[in-house]
Amino acid sequence: MIVTLLGTGSPIPAPDRAGPATLVTVTAADATRHLLVDAGRGVLMRMAAAGVGAGDLAAVLITHLHSDHITDLNDVITTRWVTSFAPNPLTIVGPVGTRDVVDHLLAALAPDIAYRIAHHDDLTEPPPVTVVEVEEGPIDVGVGVAVTCAPTDHKPVEPSLGYRIEHEGTAVVVAGDTVPCAGLDRLCDGADALVHTVIRKDLIENVPLQRMQDTLDYHSSPEEAGATAARAGVGTLVLTHYVPALTPDTAEEWRRRASLHFDGVVELGDDLHRIEIPPASGRHDLNTTI
Ligand SMILES: [Zn+2]
Repeated sequence: MIVTLLGTGSPIPAPDRAGPATLVTVTAADATRHLLVDAGRGVLMRMAAAGVGAGDLAAVLITHLHSDHITDLNDVITTRWVTSFAPNPLTIVGPVGTRDVVDHLLAALAPDIAYRIAHHDDLTEPPPVTVVEVEEGPIDVGVGVAVTCAPTDHKPVEPSLGYRIEHEGTAVVVAGDTVPCAGLDRLCDGADALVHTVIRKDLIENVPLQRMQDTLDYHSSPEEAGATAARAGVGTLVLTHYVPALTPDTAEEWRRRASLHFDGVVELGDDLHRIEIPPASGRHDLNTTI
């Protein structure tokens, strides 16, 4: 399996970091399947750079409905529709509330949808979208890849979810935004890789802005992400959603903090950082409890 960090940014616009989005690519004997987790600012530009089009996605998995994680979901929906020359329904999996958001996005896109249907003879229907709202447990995304979700803790944002994607003995978890919690621990158990959003609490707690202070209690620090990975026996911890933005001179400090409680591999980097996850690198002797 391959993890590509499409967007390593946060709500704060950055010239070189797109919004939160992670691509998990599963290469099977019969086909390659791309699962997109979250659809932040600029996601399709980063996917284009990775050689993946909106029409190539097997499914979109949404961790939660914070705007920075879904900013460009409308672009994924529209671009898949207008660049597919045969019906290519898009499956969007997300927490309860996702259907409402997608319905409203489609409503906002109504003029565009009408223009294109009127203009192109071969576009006769609005974008075909199937929304699957989930809470916990296995999810059938219909592409031969095992996907499981569990609740995370990003309160007061509720509900929020992490996803575990498994194929042929390799398991990758994408946590989204969360503090350490039992749901994430269950999801991560023995996984080969954990992709975790992080903020440097040691820096943010000194920022004299209440709105920044407010973010401390619903995100994990690299130390906390490392402790979660260690508890679950994860092989590789992948950090993303850096607040403040990762810079070349701070990278080692991020890595040091993530490694305080975790002795596995720590991956961090810029947009389009690509990590090949070797099978059976996590602690597979434990049974997943979900
Ligand atoms: Zn969030």
